[in-house]
Amino acid sequence: PADVEELGRSSWTLLHTIAAKYPNKPSDTQKQEMKQFMTIFSHVYPCGWCAKDFELFIKENAPKVDSKDDLGRWICAAHNEVNEKLGKEKFNCDLWKKRWVDGWD
Ligand code: FAD
Repeated sequence: PADVEELGRSSWTLLHTIAAKYPNKPSDTQKQEMKQFMTIFSHVYPCGWCAKDFELFIKENAPKVDSKDDLGRWICAAHNEVNEKLGKEKFNCDLWKKRWVDGWD
């Protein structure tokens, strides 16, 4: 449905932008909070079946929160899992910073 797609685009923008602003060297508190955020996000995401799959992804792939690049690549992998499920093209995660931090040339 259109609202699930619009919600998805906005939510991926939020998630990738959160990674873009995440520190290169996060404190223990920042790491802990980011893990909690992802878990809670997977509980409150307002598309039930999307939330369930994201929750499962987190259970099988613990959030990587040790640096900006780790988090960005982890969210990229989570997004690719959904891309694959929906028959969309996979995104090259080596390019996540170009798309979400630096901008295309
Ligand atoms: P989107 O997939 O929304 O992507 C937006 C932009 O992000 C793209 O244009 C591209 O520039 C960039 N991008 C694409 N892939 C990546 C990547 N891997 N890493 C970095 N950047 C990337 N929809 C469903 O129908 N069923 C579901 O089960 C479902 N689960 C979801 C779970 C979550 C947690 C979220 C946030 C969304 C989910 N969605 C689901 C929505 C779906 O992923 C898309 O957002 C929606 O279909 C709109 O797709 P889109 O083609 O406009 O681009």
